[in-house]
Amino acid sequence: MADIRLEGVGHSYDGGRTWALRPMTWTWRSSRAYALLGPSGCGKTTLLNIISGLITPTEGRVLLGDRDVTGVPTAGRNIAQVFQFPVLYGDMTVYDNLAFPLRNRKYPRDEIDRRVRQVSELLGLDAHLRTRSRRLDPGRQQIVCLGRGLVRPDVAAVLLDEPLTVVDPALKWTLRSKLKEIHRDTGHTLIYVTHDQTEALTFADEVVVLKDGAIVQAGEPGELFLSPAHEFVGHFIGSPGMNVLPASVRDGVVRVGEVAVGRATGDLPPGPVNVGVRPEFVRVGAAPSLPGIEARVTAVDRMGPYELVRARVHDRDVLAKVESGSGHRPGEVVYLGFDRAYLFRDSVRRAAL
Ligand code: ATP
Repeated sequence: MADIRLEGVGHSYDGGRTWALRPMTWTWRSSRAYALLGPSGCGKTTLLNIISGLITPTEGRVLLGDRDVTGVPTAGRNIAQVFQFPVLYGDMTVYDNLAFPLRNRKYPRDEIDRRVRQVSELLGLDAHLRTRSRRLDPGRQQIVCLGRGLVRPDVAAVLLDEPLTVVDPALKWTLRSKLKEIHRDTGHTLIYVTHDQTEALTFADEVVVLKDGAIVQAGEPGELFLSPAHEFVGHFIGSPGMNVLPASVRDGVVRVGEVAVGRATGDLPPGPVNVGVRPEFVRVGAAPSLPGIEARVTAVDRMGPYELVRARVHDRDVLAKVESGSGHRPGEVVYLGFDRAYLFRDSVRRAAL
């Protein structure tokens, strides 16, 4: 197994006028399960296609271990790719579709049979092995595609581009945990593209967040939640995402309006900042505490074991996730405190509170 290294890799579809992927240097470490997360159009598919060889990047080099594969087509890279929309041989049975990548590489017949049965059992396809794939519903067809991507034992990496979009939501959870099981078994490097944060956070050893063609943060799921390095990560990860309050720093003291809310860690030059605080870390008190920002409750939504309190500060809403039965009511004046907050300048985290 080898690392996949991107050295200054970038891609433009329009002769250099805009970057679909900005030049980046990044290593996908062997045997890890990655989630590549980002909104529509941020460059996820482009990045995957560069790794698999479907696209030759307009900038930089792609290395598989020590081997430069920049211009090498997919067939020469030993990388399996599963696409968002099922691409199957409709007239072939599920068995033959799964066996196809192995037959193509001249695996012995008994080994093919063993692998096909192993993968189909794990993915719950055994009852359908003799069915022609076009007779399956779209969700099951997508699972067959997933199986075909996972069936080869010899690949260096498996790239999955939103592989479960048409699968029934309840089945998705099962399949993700099966996928983890297969990953533990085979030790393939997995790169799983999604724009769904739950999918990314429950699946990956490491989540890579892409925005406008650039990696804004990569780390373990918990790290992205607790320490967003960029405002975008704070918004995008978490449900609901991070609150942002405009503030200012002078002599290390952070003020929202006139209210001092704490001291900035480190040496932050004076000027405007954004205070970022997750709803989980907002305290809502009935009486002023120090520091406490006065706010007026505008809504309280019950969400099972917790409540989402919406409170107005100046012209902004701040959301707080509190335990159910808090007794907060719309119209009430409350005081907000922050257990964990970060200071962002130009969208990048510069300090904490
Ligand atoms: P989605 O989640 O919608 O699939 P994505 O994150 O995978 O999006 P890409 O498909 O890689 O993003 O697209 C990145 C940018 O490149 C977008 O602005 C897109 O419009 C553009 N793009 C993608 N493919 C092409 C192409 N073949 N020709 C021209 N522009 C393209």
